[in-house]
Amino acid sequence: MKRREILKTLTILPLAGTISAAAKPVSALSTQLAERDLYAELGLRTFINAAGNYTAMTGSIMPDEVMSAINASSKKFVKLDELQDKVGEKIAALCRAEAAMVTAGCWSALTLGMAGVLTGLDEKKVSQVPNLAGTGMKTEVILQKSHSLGYDHALTQAGVKLIKVETRAELEKAINSRTAMLWFLNREAPKGQIKHEEWIELGKKYNLPTMIDIAADVPPVENLWKFNEMGFDLVAISGGKAMRGPQSAGILMGKRDLVAAARLSNNPRGGIGRGQKVNKEEILAMYVALERFINLDHKKEWKQWENKIALIDNSIKSIPGISTEVVVPPTDNNMPTLLISWNPQTIRSTHTQMGEKLRFGNPSIEVISWEKDNSIRVAMHCLQPGEEKIVARRIKEELVNASI
Ligand SMILES: *Cc1c(COP(=O)(O)O)cnc(C)c1O
Repeated sequence: MKRREILKTLTILPLAGTISAAAKPVSALSTQLAERDLYAELGLRTFINAAGNYTAMTGSIMPDEVMSAINASSKKFVKLDELQDKVGEKIAALCRAEAAMVTAGCWSALTLGMAGVLTGLDEKKVSQVPNLAGTGMKTEVILQKSHSLGYDHALTQAGVKLIKVETRAELEKAINSRTAMLWFLNREAPKGQIKHEEWIELGKKYNLPTMIDIAADVPPVENLWKFNEMGFDLVAISGGKAMRGPQSAGILMGKRDLVAAARLSNNPRGGIGRGQKVNKEEILAMYVALERFINLDHKKEWKQWENKIALIDNSIKSIPGISTEVVVPPTDNNMPTLLISWNPQTIRSTHTQMGEKLRFGNPSIEVISWEKDNSIRVAMHCLQPGEEKIVARRIKEELVNASI
């Protein structure tokens, strides 16, 4: 819901203050692409991202190593299957999985993984998905009600029906000859009654594959291998969130036979994944982004986020009516953020108005302004070096402006 709301907001935005920059001489078109400021040419608002790796905000900024992988690999041809084989092997080794493939985001990993579970290596079945009736393929996936946030729609694209349960007893009762898989959403693990280990145990007990969606659940970096080692048969993750790979990439990893089966539904073949193409540059960029992310000094990253939080906090905390708190979501972007709340008697602004003041200010800044009344939440992990100072100054200005 929240993501949908923000998408709506972003779609109706006027192109504040950038129109004039669009008028560029035609000769600019002949200059090298790298030199063009395409956002300015098109009159697009760019912004400092103090909100996070939201899909509608274009995910993340790819680091130089990742961009250089894209450039370097763009100059030669290679066979897509051979590339997936080699990159898959490397990724699997890095994540301690039997096998892996690069997909068009976590969503595609969910859809293709689901398809692989249904079809196995049977090419006829691959050609029948998502029309499962009368094919002999199984048709149901079981998940916990609290894990149904909309991402499960990726599974239904392979034709399955979602069966939602709350308790272990309900789950065991729901299992029948049509059950294809047990699906788990790590983000909502704290809410569901059945936790990871029990989920896997149930899968083993009934001989059903288990899949987990950990899309936005690094950091911690260990999550890249934790769920493979724990025993999930398939693990799906986004590449363009905190890992800072291409926004259009993700990873499906897990059991060798299931990943091989998932690949049968993917391009270059004509299964349901034919339209979920990841180009060679993105496949390699995903690999490089993963490797870079694993090798990061994660303690140092965390410390840098805390330093940025302290800088912003120090600049605003003396404003009357303000209270601040460091909030670290347990899953779904497990990184420190600053929650800034205000007393509406002292500061006359709704959270939405405050978000708009920052969005339409100069420079434009996006913060999380849709979660709670009289508060905004500010994330550090998408800030470029030095931007925290601008964010601190602008938030302070708007809070002071709205003070009575
Ligand atoms: C972002 C997200 C997805 C979709 O991932 P993409 O990489 O954008 O395809 C799926 N599940 C969850 C929980 C997510 O947060």
